[in-house]
Amino acid sequence: MKVLKFGGTSVGSSNNINNVINILETYSKSSKVACIVSAVGGITDKLLLAGNQAKNKDKSFVDSFNSIKDIHIAIIKELNTSQSDTILSYLDEKLNALKNLLDGIYLINELSPKTSDKLVSFGELLSSFIIAETMKNRGLSAERKNSQELIVTNSNFTKAEVNYNLTYSNIQGYFKSANQQITILPGFISKSDMGEITTLGRGGSDFTAAIVAAALKVEQLEIWTDVSGMYTTNPKMVKQAYPIKNISYQEAMELSHFGAKVLYPPTVQPVLDLNIPIHIKNTNAPNDSGTIISNQNINNNTTVKGISNIGNIALLTLEGSGMIGIPGFSKRLFETLAQEKVNVILITQASSEHSICIGIDTNDAERAKTAVDKTFENEIALHKIDPIVVETGLSIIALVGDNMKNHQGISGKMFSSLGKNNINIRAIAQGASEKNISAVIAYKDVKKALNTLHEQFFEAKTKQLNVFITGVGNVGERLVEQIKQQKIFLKENLKINLRVIGLSNSRKMVFNEDGIDLNDWKNQLFNGEQATLSGFFQQVKDLNLRNSIFVDVTANSDVANLYANYLRESIGVVACNKIACSSDLDNYKLLKRLSLKYNAPFLFETNVGAGLPVIDTLNNLVASGDKITSIQAVLSGSLNFVFNNFNDNTKFHDVVKQAQEEGYTEPDPRIDLSGVDVARKILILARESGVEMNLEDISNESFLSEAGIKSDTVDDFFQSLITDEVHYQNLYASAKAKNCQLKYVAQFNNGKASVGLQEIPEGHPFYNLEGKDNIVMFYTQRYPEQPMIIKGAGAGADVTASGLFADIIRVGNN
Ligand code: ADP
Ligand code: ASP
Ligand code: MG
Repeated sequence: MKVLKFGGTSVGSSNNINNVINILETYSKSSKVACIVSAVGGITDKLLLAGNQAKNKDKSFVDSFNSIKDIHIAIIKELNTSQSDTILSYLDEKLNALKNLLDGIYLINELSPKTSDKLVSFGELLSSFIIAETMKNRGLSAERKNSQELIVTNSNFTKAEVNYNLTYSNIQGYFKSANQQITILPGFISKSDMGEITTLGRGGSDFTAAIVAAALKVEQLEIWTDVSGMYTTNPKMVKQAYPIKNISYQEAMELSHFGAKVLYPPTVQPVLDLNIPIHIKNTNAPNDSGTIISNQNINNNTTVKGISNIGNIALLTLEGSGMIGIPGFSKRLFETLAQEKVNVILITQASSEHSICIGIDTNDAERAKTAVDKTFENEIALHKIDPIVVETGLSIIALVGDNMKNHQGISGKMFSSLGKNNINIRAIAQGASEKNISAVIAYKDVKKALNTLHEQFFEAKTKQLNVFITGVGNVGERLVEQIKQQKIFLKENLKINLRVIGLSNSRKMVFNEDGIDLNDWKNQLFNGEQATLSGFFQQVKDLNLRNSIFVDVTANSDVANLYANYLRESIGVVACNKIACSSDLDNYKLLKRLSLKYNAPFLFETNVGAGLPVIDTLNNLVASGDKITSIQAVLSGSLNFVFNNFNDNTKFHDVVKQAQEEGYTEPDPRIDLSGVDVARKILILARESGVEMNLEDISNESFLSEAGIKSDTVDDFFQSLITDEVHYQNLYASAKAKNCQLKYVAQFNNGKASVGLQEIPEGHPFYNLEGKDNIVMFYTQRYPEQPMIIKGAGAGADVTASGLFADIIRVGNN
């Protein structure tokens, strides 16, 4: 004898029912088969919905009823049996009874647990009849046996307890004399010893199957569902989840108790007692190996076997100084909850005994609070304890594994990886058996938490980075292209799965939680929604993905003003925008503090020298205990261009114009020529060296003419360059006379910084600096005479993009 159970989706359409019939036909060739079926997928929910609508005097219960009817009629028609008349007339009879029941509920305005069980029983009665009749009609040796005649329970409606002795003997008796090869049994439904209709609890068809398997002492129980086994975690929440090959009864029970819906927890007990393995299989992929739940073949090397979660949790806290040292509080608390039939899912108690915290289903919260407040009425009146506090909107996540107890550091890893991703933990419970570590977190964080933990315990080898880029102009575009090109390399060599989730320019923004297809990003951005900075931030926050990184490729101060918001959400910030780091010292310090506090890296290597590793080198020197004594640097590609091309044959105005036209200067060239841009850069280096200063503290003696400094507009400025050509020619002539080159130099010496034009003599490292190159010389305690020199292209879209890229990878390695 074989026992198989098919769940709601497996019998949810005519197509799937045909798959089921094929599987049963094959099995029946070598053995008799008992097949337990659920209601057609979604029907139990719809029945309950209709019942509640009727109870609430909501006429739309008729619509729900009609939808139930239509679904079944469609399936019967599609199954296309010549006996559809028999099936349709049974359907008709049952639907009439159902309609009468709903009308009754509507009239009396009440839906008791007893009526509710009667109501939902229609689901399994219909599905089992349709399947059995279809099989008979196709010439198979099949009969439907109503489980209500076999499974006997008490009258605990909606979740009745089974009388195993009676039930087992009924089942054994029936099958002893049954002649058909295939017996179809409705799952979930039963009858009390008084003959009332009862059910075994939501998801209870699994339980029916286990009861039949145990009664018949079969070799294994097969649960056929819509996924290929019990997964490492809910596959609908975590794409990387995979089926667990072998798992122990205890682990399976623990996982299912904590929300792995694929198995109804009580299912395990009857088969565990007889050591009957449960095999979970996929109706849509019958060749997949699935999961075997048993006491054998347990791989002892794995620690965490799976991660599960339950939503809709409320936390009840009983607190007060009057509880300390006085026995009996917990007893009274739990007795009250038991009387109210409130199922306690998680318990924690502070060791000071000052508080007891319990996790329960939110639907029970109000009832529980009222009852507990009543129980402790006196103590509350005497202020010995506080009225019970209820928090909702929570979920439990749990790590499960028989072997966790033999390994240290699992809870440490669990909580630190959650913490790093800014997931706040409200309560923690660890069973003494250490098969389970659970935490209560906000419902909104569940998906992030599951993905984080799954990555930590099951995919330790790859790390997913979720990148959001604002500003896809010249540099931003190069960055996206570089990411596209390097994606596979990063995955294979650095085990980093880099995904661009959001993109924005000043007009449009686009998001894709699964990663934007970078082959087509421009088109997607073009068709995106209207961009706003706050809207972009809100979406990044709401998506709530682990390892999120915000990348600022703008020069916009409004974008820079949002960094604090990102960091507070534990979202790393990578910026080529210099504004934040050269802003007011308090703001710079705030961002640094937030970055530490929320464990969110804030990196801005490209603020100085584009892709050159200037800041990283400086940070490494400081971190290793070196002290920066002096920095000498040429940090402006644009000013280099200007002074490399300016001589007695060219006009200063023309050279500046050319630099502007070729994109070497900011659109407003005064930002470069006034030295402000360079001052910002040396300010950032000074700050990173550990010196607190502001932009005003940097001395900046301008080489511009009086009129140039005072110009109000860019046009005025260019006009002044023409008028004051002599002034600029004099600068050149003076340098030439001394055989010097003009370079715009930034300096930092003993806590003071300055920027200005200098005449550089031959032989000096700055003398031959070409094109857009930058050079930085660090004099430190360890490099006192011969400085550490970093030199190379200090501007350009490609090198800046690669600097941003390097920062993103640094965040990933954090
Ligand atoms: P059935 O109707 O066949 O009884 P269920 O919907 O009750 O199926 O259970 C299967 C569903 O359980 C899957 O589709 C999946 O969404 C959910 N699920 C949750 N956690 C897990 C897990 N760890 N492994 C497999 N499935 C899970
Ligand atoms: N149909 C019932 C439910 O949806 C029982 C089951 O499918 O296991 O809960
Ligand atoms: Mg189920």
